[in-house]
Amino acid sequence: MKTSWQSVIVFTLLASLVFSGCTRAHEPTDDPITGAESQIPLKPEEMKIPYNKESGAISSILNVVREEYEIKKNSTSFESLREAGFSPQEINEIVKAAKPEYNLSQVTPGTRFTVEKTTTEEIHRVVFNISNIQRLELYPKEDNWVAELKKLTTKTRILSYEGEVQDSLWTSGMKAEVPPYLITELAEVFSWEVDFYREIRPGDRWKFSAEEILAEGKHVGWGNILHAEYINQDNSHKAYYFEDKAKGVRGHFDELGRSLRKMFLKSPLKFGRITSRFSRRRFHPIKKIYRPHYGVDYGAPRGTPVRSIGGGRVTKIGRFGSAGKMIVVRHPGNFKSRYLHLSRFKPGLRVGSRIEQGQVIGYVGATGAATGPHLHFELFKNDSYQDPLNVKLPPSQSVPKELLPNYLEHVQYIERNYVQQEEGRQVSAEKPELHKDTQ
Ligand SMILES: [Zn+2]
Repeated sequence: MKTSWQSVIVFTLLASLVFSGCTRAHEPTDDPITGAESQIPLKPEEMKIPYNKESGAISSILNVVREEYEIKKNSTSFESLREAGFSPQEINEIVKAAKPEYNLSQVTPGTRFTVEKTTTEEIHRVVFNISNIQRLELYPKEDNWVAELKKLTTKTRILSYEGEVQDSLWTSGMKAEVPPYLITELAEVFSWEVDFYREIRPGDRWKFSAEEILAEGKHVGWGNILHAEYINQDNSHKAYYFEDKAKGVRGHFDELGRSLRKMFLKSPLKFGRITSRFSRRRFHPIKKIYRPHYGVDYGAPRGTPVRSIGGGRVTKIGRFGSAGKMIVVRHPGNFKSRYLHLSRFKPGLRVGSRIEQGQVIGYVGATGAATGPHLHFELFKNDSYQDPLNVKLPPSQSVPKELLPNYLEHVQYIERNYVQQEEGRQVSAEKPELHKDTQ
């Protein structure tokens, strides 16, 4: 027992000799959750209509033979159309005809297109799946081509999920077969209410319903999270999506219409681990005095995105001695937040840049006096240090009074139709009416 205790002291001493700013060693976490962002599905406009593998490259529908092609990596629409058998002259005509509707030279690799031919080998139609909801159709007409850009009609259906946390929201979401994008959205909805790595406990429960957008029966993207509930240590947090375009209201609110967006995010990292807390009196092992730690350290792998906890302006950005690469953001209400030891900054930021809440401003690193990748984060009010984990902040904008009756009716509707009758995972086909009315 004694030996191991001594070795801890020796280690701490060594670590303290190496750097002065943070007197505790920080190890990078290997939390799988930090890889979450790479798994977020593409936004609707970035997605392509899925290729029907079952139907094969060529399928015969009525009297039309369909040949399917894909614009390959490092290839162009010109080369791909050549491969499909069009002459350079035909391609020029196609591109020219398409131009008023869509610039075919901008088609990205991965885009699929279909050539439809009659049984007598005449071209009937060429269709480019520009995006998940946009289709460019080209028809030969006499000696020319005619182009038409079509927007697919989309349908919205509501998907509901629920689960119980054992170790993290992420793993419980995966277990409940929640698409990764929706797990991060759910975490986002409550990111001002629940700190998803500091406050969650085994046994916490959650449920939510989200809009899925379909075009021609296929998934093309996600809409809003209509409602969500997170029961954190028997403390229930509820959220309802509400918008009123005329009044410029849009977002998630609690059951009384209060905004879920606090003035600051609870953490500058989406997922991470606190390795050292704020302390005004921390014992310094070398100097044998109490030496404070005026910030919170988050262990996270190098390159983990660091978000500004609130909106504001950059007042400092650059390399500052033992702080390493540091950004300081000034917020309303005489608040200021500082982010230290970054590996790099978000490109384009400089002193005076306007920052939105949650905007990525840099990436975790170990610049300056740091033994390993971690974020040292500080919060100031009236230029004096605050404990970021205990500072009391006022909530931000709520549902305006004149809309409150509408809002409360909307909440009841959602509760009746999507919350109370949920039994495990369930699908319903329609979008809530009131949700439409409020637009
Ligand atoms: Zn620190």
